[in-house]
Amino acid sequence: MRMRVLSIAALFAVVLLWAMPLDAQRKYALEDLPEIPLDTLDTAKPNVKIITFANNTWKYYFSDYESLINQDVFRDHWVTNQVFAYKDVKIGDIPETMEIELVKSLSDFHPPVLGRVSSRYGPRGRGMHKGIDVGLPTGEPIYATFEGRVRYARYNSGGYGYLVIIRHPNGLETYYGHLCKLNVDVDDYVVAGQVIGYGGNTGRSRGPHLHFEVRYADLTFDPERIIDFSTGELKWQNFVLERGYFNVSSKLTEALEEDEGDMGELFVDKEGKPLSSEEIVENLEKAASKPKPTVNDAVYYKVKSGDNLSKIAAKYGTTVGAICRLNGIKSTTPIRIGQRLRVK
Ligand SMILES: [Zn+2]
Repeated sequence: MRMRVLSIAALFAVVLLWAMPLDAQRKYALEDLPEIPLDTLDTAKPNVKIITFANNTWKYYFSDYESLINQDVFRDHWVTNQVFAYKDVKIGDIPETMEIELVKSLSDFHPPVLGRVSSRYGPRGRGMHKGIDVGLPTGEPIYATFEGRVRYARYNSGGYGYLVIIRHPNGLETYYGHLCKLNVDVDDYVVAGQVIGYGGNTGRSRGPHLHFEVRYADLTFDPERIIDFSTGELKWQNFVLERGYFNVSSKLTEALEEDEGDMGELFVDKEGKPLSSEEIVENLEKAASKPKPTVNDAVYYKVKSGDNLSKIAAKYGTTVGAICRLNGIKSTTPIRIGQRLRVK
């Protein structure tokens, strides 16, 4: 018993020593830690570690948090209580073409969610659909597409429902709307592939789906210019953004026009009558599970140092949610090196 107490004390001391520079980081200052830290795990990035806690939760720790958030892009026009942050910027102030570095390497990207695009960007009815909709079952994890700082994470009464906005170091912002639950706070620094919330049907939405937007200086352009939603791949490492891509009415209103999600066969019956939410979930699950893998198709993966569920999911072109379901674990369950996980 005494040995055990001693080893716990020793572990504490190690964690304490290691955690000293945390003082610089407001969110993860030692006194704010939600639970007893258990372990630290490496990630693919040397400046990013994962701290696991005794209550089965974990958080990213950025050893250079201070320098990350001190970049001009995270200080100028930093508005955390409104959707739009660049009200004084006019379209004429924006260069006609801009070369934007989306990622340094392709591992710096993760699709926001994998699924069927149910409504594309562009004119819809009398309005304009300023993002792209992807159908999903409520509770599906939603991922940060690139690293960046969370500028907005709250309920939006203009139609987005629970909304997360992340500003990226290149100045782009990504929007994730209609979530059922948020997993990040304003000012958090996040990495690509981090679960920022869970998909849902909040706000002006009919049927659970993700409404995803990409904006520069509040102006939208088609997310499919940079992301292939059918394969979950990023189209460019460096992207040339032309002023002509922008929707100039993006700035006129904060309210999201009615986002109908997929009004195709997943959400309405043959006569066009809306289905009940149970029927919609059933349809979405049916659509998501095609083709159905048999037991013989099962693929297993042995967890290595620096792995996390998002990385493993990305490696096998699946989602954290799918891996969790296959293994009966939660996305917050810590994984151990050497652990065998079913990935397909
Ligand atoms: Zn939408």
